[in-house]
Amino acid sequence: MRVHHIVPPYLLEHLERTADDPNLRARYRQSLQHDAVFRARPSATQRQDAAPFQDEGPTQGPRRVVHDAEHGTSLPGTVVRAEGDPATTDLTVNQAYDGTGATWAMFQECFGRDSIDGAGLLLSSTVHFDRGYANAFWDGTQMVFGDGDGEIFGDFTRSIDVTGHELTHGVTQYTADLAYEGQSGALNESISDVFGSLAKQHHRGQSAADADWLIGADIFRPGVSGVALRSLKAPGTAYDDPRLGRDPQPAHMSGYVETTADHGGVHINSGIPNHAFYLVAMALGGNAYGDAGRIWYDTLTSGELSETATFIDFAQATLAAAETLFGADSPQVSAVSTAWTEVGVLQSDSSEPSQPSEPSEPERSQPSGSAESVELMRAAKTALSTGTPPRPPPFMPPTPDQPAEPAEPDPATADPDTPANHSHPETSASGSD
Ligand SMILES: [Zn+2]
Repeated sequence: MRVHHIVPPYLLEHLERTADDPNLRARYRQSLQHDAVFRARPSATQRQDAAPFQDEGPTQGPRRVVHDAEHGTSLPGTVVRAEGDPATTDLTVNQAYDGTGATWAMFQECFGRDSIDGAGLLLSSTVHFDRGYANAFWDGTQMVFGDGDGEIFGDFTRSIDVTGHELTHGVTQYTADLAYEGQSGALNESISDVFGSLAKQHHRGQSAADADWLIGADIFRPGVSGVALRSLKAPGTAYDDPRLGRDPQPAHMSGYVETTADHGGVHINSGIPNHAFYLVAMALGGNAYGDAGRIWYDTLTSGELSETATFIDFAQATLAAAETLFGADSPQVSAVSTAWTEVGVLQSDSSEPSQPSEPSEPERSQPSGSAESVELMRAAKTALSTGTPPRPPPFMPPTPDQPAEPAEPDPATADPDTPANHSHPETSASGSD
């Protein structure tokens, strides 16, 4: 069982290196150490934390329980709100309850899935984990939220898409179980970003055109130069801050980052399939949790996706899912084909890879040390400055919807702005609402 954190280790390492305040440095170090301990911990699936709730079986709604770690590190902590209980005076408790509920509702109402396992699994969360803990994670059985370091990150329960991201790691665990390494790991990450964003869009009733397509827009503290942890609309533009570094995500295979850090760049190269989903949703219009979400959901849950699927495998599986759902000549199939071509995963005939497959010997992730992290950030920046296709800067008005008919798959003309026009995110947009 793998523990999935929302903030990747290279980002916390960068923060630790650049923080002037020794107390802050200690918080980042401690957050990293917690994360390393959890990563190394044996399977958490045998824990009986939620036993009092587990025998009730599926019901007509979600089954949630929120615990309070009271700034300690014992899990799951004290039960402070169970399903049907009224709101408490603790906003963080209520946000965890509401975020898990919104995620449950999206999976149930859009795709007919009852909870993470499809069988009404209890949605268990712990809030106020440790002091200054700058992360949130899914440990294989439950969600855990930190209150943030107070400088860069605030309360991690604030963004529904963060909660949705982590719970979707659970859905993937119960379905395609994509290996958390290299391209299959980046797909695992991307699927969590996609359904995390869909949970927020569904909760808000937003169309694809109206959605912000950001992950973690509400967890940055004021003063951070950035809008979120990641952007599906414009990967690589979510933040650019002297303390955080610059968002290293590529939006196109030409910017693919080869690295052994971060499990082979799972939080970095996920920008490519993320952007493909965004393009499909925008081409189809309406709600992204409609046809586009259904195609991705069926791909994830069909049982036909390999645990070691590459981007090309996944692209072809989404094409097959769209054909099954909507027919070979449908606009949905056309949109999926065009999107994967635009991000450079498929060539324009939609059947041939545009890049060689991954090496047959999968890269093994090394424990990410500082030097490696620096190398990673440098590689990411190099890729961004030379290899990625033009993309819109943040904060420009939403681009006009792509027409429903397939566009000529030419990434060079898909976005009118050049990288030279890339403007830095402004502090004022750091995401609280
Ligand atoms: Zn994740």
